[in-house]
Order: sequence, then structure tokens, then C-alpha cells
Amino acid sequence: MSTTTPISCGATHSDGRRVVIVGGGQAAGAALKRLRQLDYPGPITLVSDEAQLPYERPPLSKEYLRGVERDLRWIAPGERLNEQLTINRAAVAGDAGARTITCDDGTQLPYDFLLLATGGTPRRLATPGAELDNVHCLRRANDAVALRQSIEKCAQARQRLLVIGGSWIGLEVAAGAREAGVEVTVVEQEEQLCGRTLPASAARWLQALHVSRGVDVRLGTSVVSLDGNREVRSARLSNGALLPVGAVIAGIGIAPNTLLAQRLGVLVRSGIVVDRHCRSSIPEIYAAGDVAEQACSWHENSLRIETWENANRQGETAATHIAGLAGIGTHPPVPDHEPPPWFWSDQYDMNLQVLGAPTCCDAVLASPSSESGRLFVHLRGGLVVGAIGINRPREIRRLRKQLTERPNLPRSELLQQGLGLPLVFPLKGKEHA
Ligand SMILES: Cc1cc2nc3c(=O)[nH]c(=O)nc-3n(C[C@H](O)[C@H](O)[C@H](O)COP(=O)(O)OP(=O)(O)OC[C@H]3O[C@@H](n4cnc5c(N)ncnc54)[C@H](O)[C@@H]3O)c2cc1C
Repeated sequence: MSTTTPISCGATHSDGRRVVIVGGGQAAGAALKRLRQLDYPGPITLVSDEAQLPYERPPLSKEYLRGVERDLRWIAPGERLNEQLTINRAAVAGDAGARTITCDDGTQLPYDFLLLATGGTPRRLATPGAELDNVHCLRRANDAVALRQSIEKCAQARQRLLVIGGSWIGLEVAAGAREAGVEVTVVEQEEQLCGRTLPASAARWLQALHVSRGVDVRLGTSVVSLDGNREVRSARLSNGALLPVGAVIAGIGIAPNTLLAQRLGVLVRSGIVVDRHCRSSIPEIYAAGDVAEQACSWHENSLRIETWENANRQGETAATHIAGLAGIGTHPPVPDHEPPPWFWSDQYDMNLQVLGAPTCCDAVLASPSSESGRLFVHLRGGLVVGAIGINRPREIRRLRKQLTERPNLPRSELLQQGLGLPLVFPLKGKEHA
């Protein structure tokens, strides 16, 4: 692994076409792994501006944050002879005509295929006081270490953690902090938690879970200012309340890192626009992961999907296509339909899994509310478009397989197909405003 050695022409292996991967996250790691599986013989250069090679991010807000795990989970460990894996270096410019990218130390990397897997950067708070110490975001390993220390300090000093943004990362941090004995307030400016990904009924269930574990959840509320002397000490809320706090975490979304793509002249909308092979508007340039915008039949939209599974799948898809064009392996047959999107979250003793596009539903079936878990199945026009399982991994696994094989699954076939779903009452009406 190279950290400081200048590189002028990527990895030096002479056999095959040069692949440059920009980014050191999930999609980059998945692409590298896939190229290795295919025994890609050409030179592969990976450029990451992080201090580590690709590692898994989900534990950062779970086991790693709680200190249960201290080591990062590597995605594609090691380095092969035809690879040059470079950390602490950013790709800052590119010339699509000359097929080169330029790094922040001035080195130029020529490519035959370029994969942009640059992910996103956490949105910063725009409120006064956002620059105070103990105001955190969470994207990288060092963010998690700093946040863990702040949570430990809050526990010792009996201070409150303020979570700004009631979405997945904020709620996972809230759960971890509660388990460490810290008082937690979550403020969310919208009228429900996880508004982008959850329909109202599931969001209410999640809210009740957090309230039952002692979290002070305030919807329709924002933070007007943070105050303190070097370290944050209090937060002024939009309803006028002054909240004493020991630390703050802002989980208010990410902005996709599209600057390099723009400099290369690639089409960018909400992200880098790619086709089903993850190819951008410039054929030899690919994009994958949180930075990529792709058509999704489940959402009936072209969008960026910010999940672990999507980053893996798109990274693998891009690598497989690149290898196929280079004459390595074969292009696998493109399935008639896309597998449903899927992600999970772990909070307290609960495993939540979200399948398909539940927010696109017009009706919901649900199992009875219980503290141990719940299953929601989301319908549109009588067809299953999504599901949410709370401690229901078996049912979600079966449904995922089912919807991967046959996307237009009618409601009437749920039980006939042997899913054994305890569907007891339909919730009528449009769930998602
Ligand atoms: C704390 C946390 C917890 C999560 N938990 C879950 C979960 O439970 N379930 C789930 O489904 N998803 C989860 N996710 C989401 C999932 O991890 C992301 O969707 C996934 O990491 C996206 O992968 P990516 O490769 O697109 O981006 P990233 O993993 O962010 O990687 C992008 C990489 O590119 C680098 N980079 C950017 N620009 C440049 C440049 N110009 N030059 C060089 N390098 C550059 C970045 O530093 C970074 O290393 C979580 C995310 C986080 C942050």
C-alpha cells in the first residue's frame, strides 16, 4: 500500500487495460473485490483520500461506536501485484479526452476505465455555534472515535447528547448513547422520523420504541443556535427552549461528492447519472454507490440510494462490466427486473430491515403491534412494493427472495406462497405524505 510514493502511471503491470478507482469506501472496495474474483490481469489503481483502505461503515454507528468492536472491518484486505492502493490522496481533476485524472500531489493517472466511487460528505449544520468542540458528524472511522469519546464524557458528567436529525444514523447513535446511560434528545424538523425512507406507520412505531427507551423525541423542531465557550454547552431550539448539552451529533444527510465528475464533464443530476451497468454519460467512466443516480423501477424514479447493499451491488456491477469489456469473464445476463432495494439498521435489541420502496405504497398490511417486533407489507395497486421487518429477519429474507424472482407479487399470493405472514389488518389510505 502506498501512502506517499508519487505515482505517475498507475500500477505498472503491463498486461491489460488500466482501471482507476477513485474512492476508498464500500463501492470502491466491492469493485476491487470483484476484479480480484475475476482475476483481472490489468493494472488497478485505487486512490482514497482516507487514512485507511476500504472498510465497512455500518459498524461505525453500532458496534464500533459502542466500543464493542475496536478494529475496522476491511472490505478487500491486502494488495496484489497488479494493484496500487493509495491512501491519503485525493483525485482533484480529470481530463476525459486524455483519459487522465490528477491527484492533489500533482501526479497524473491515466486510465482506460475509471470508476468514481466518491460517496458523500455529511451536510454541515448552518446554525451559529456549529464549529464548537463536541459537535460531531459521523461518516468516517475517526468521526466515530471522536463521537465515542464525547458519549463517554457525557455518561461520566451526566450530560445530555443532542441528536440533530431523526434519521437512521442519528437514531442508531441515540440508541447507542442510551445504552451507555446517556440522556438523549432527538430533534427532527419534519413531523415524522426517517421521512425519506419510512411511511408514517413504521415511523410511529420507531418513535414509540425510542420514547420507550427514554429518548426525548421532538418532532417539528429545529436547532436555532448552539452556544458554549470552546465546547458546546447548550442548544436553543426553534420553540424557544434552551437545552443544556454535553455533545451534539448532526445526522442531517450527505451531499454527494460529484466535483470530480463535473470536472470530467460527466452528466450529474442528484448524483452522477449512470445506466444499469453503472456507466456514466462518458462510456469509459463508471460511478457506483452513494454518488450514483440510477433508475429504480421500485421507486419509479431515478435516484441515489444510500445503502450498503446498493454500494456493493453497483461496485460489483461496474467491475463486472469493465472486466467484460476488457475480455475478462462474461457479462452476466441482465435480469428482466431489478432486485428490490434493501437495507437494515440495528437499534437497541431491534433489527430493522427495509425492503423495496415502502414509501411508494397506497396501502399497508401490518402484524399486530408488539414490543418484540412487527412486520409491515406495503402495497401499490394491490401489488407488494415493499416491506419493513422489525425483528422479522426470516420473513424479510423470504420476501426478498420472492420479490427478486417475481417483482409483481399480488397481495392475494402472500399467504399462498407460504410466506406465513401474520397479516391481520389493513391500514387504509395513503401512508406517505
Ligand atoms: C455511520 C454509518 C452507518 C451506516 N449504516 C448502514 C446500515 O446499517 N445499513 C445500510 O444499508 N447502510 C448503512 N450505511 C450506508 C452505507 O455505509 C453507505 O451507503 C456506503 O458506505 C456508501 O458507499 P460509497 O462507497 O458510495 O461511499 P463511501 O463509503 O462514503 O466511500 C467514498 C469514499 O471515497 C473517498 N473520496 C471521496 N472523494 C474522493 C476523491 N476526490 N479522491 C479520493 N477519495 C475520495 C471518501 O473519502 C470515501 O473513502 C451507513 C453509513 C454510515 C456513514
